[in-house]
Amino acid sequence: MVSAKEVIVGIDMGGTSLRALVVNAQNEILAVEKQPTNVAQKPDGLIRDLAAMVEDVVDAAGLRKSKLRAVSIGAPGAVDPEHGVVYHAPNLGWDAVPLGEKLKKLLHVPVYVENDVNVGVVGEHALGAGQGAQELVGIFVGTGIGGGIIFRGELYLGMRGAAAEVGHMIVQVDGPLCGCGNHGCIEALASRTSMERDVRAAIRNGQKSGVLKLMEERNKDRMTSSIIQRALKRNDPVMRKVMKRAQYFLGLAVAGVVNLLDPECVVIGGGIAERLGESYVAPIRKTAYENFLRRHDAERVKIVPGTLGDNAGPLGAVVLARKRLDK
Ligand SMILES: [Zn+2]
Repeated sequence: MVSAKEVIVGIDMGGTSLRALVVNAQNEILAVEKQPTNVAQKPDGLIRDLAAMVEDVVDAAGLRKSKLRAVSIGAPGAVDPEHGVVYHAPNLGWDAVPLGEKLKKLLHVPVYVENDVNVGVVGEHALGAGQGAQELVGIFVGTGIGGGIIFRGELYLGMRGAAAEVGHMIVQVDGPLCGCGNHGCIEALASRTSMERDVRAAIRNGQKSGVLKLMEERNKDRMTSSIIQRALKRNDPVMRKVMKRAQYFLGLAVAGVVNLLDPECVVIGGGIAERLGESYVAPIRKTAYENFLRRHDAERVKIVPGTLGDNAGPLGAVVLARKRLDK
């Protein structure tokens, strides 16, 4: 039974797709909707898409809109959660868009906005691989590498809300150029994008690999997580080498955050971790443990793959909204 106004819609707003869930007070998912993100339109158009999607997903759950208590969105880029403003989101072509206020005008319910990686980390902490941890670091590996920190059970944002940019820790001096403009960030060494760059470079240098052929067969112009998985299954030598190197750098990054924060748990999320699970995380964990300053009880720090997959973000958004509503 769903009583009055108890469902919340959580949305993950990605540069390529939008994912919305209706969640009840017991954190059960009642319906899911997914659609491509139409970034070609102006922000107002995309915000209207979001409003329509909220109505669709509530409808798909067999509920009236009057049951909707709030909407909570994980948005890419620099977000001001207090005012619901998305400041800088290059994936969407957005700059200083008052998403919360505009969507609230269309839906007439409270709307919360938080950074997409932060909501993913809250999801894994509240309902996934990191349940019960007081201190937790989440590292999400995709086209980039995002991070989030739970400190004393709560999301840690930092003074300007700019904390936990794990992906932009510099682990190789004079390393490859990162999207942020610096060199040698972990994102420029271990993200899916940087792995693809390394695979293509190896092939250009004459190393034998079936990765490009796999991409062609699957009609992919990018090296997706599924391509990586298939190439590893076929024991592709270039893919194996590139993956091993990425895992090594991620291990160093995990060691860095553990030496800094000593959390109970580090969750590795994102598409690759979702597909490969333990086989992806095991070498990362090994390198991390080897580089902990305090090694004799290294195993007390859990380093684990996320368990919620694509639902981590929208579920975390719902959890955050409920906390803010109950304040
Ligand atoms: Zn960077």
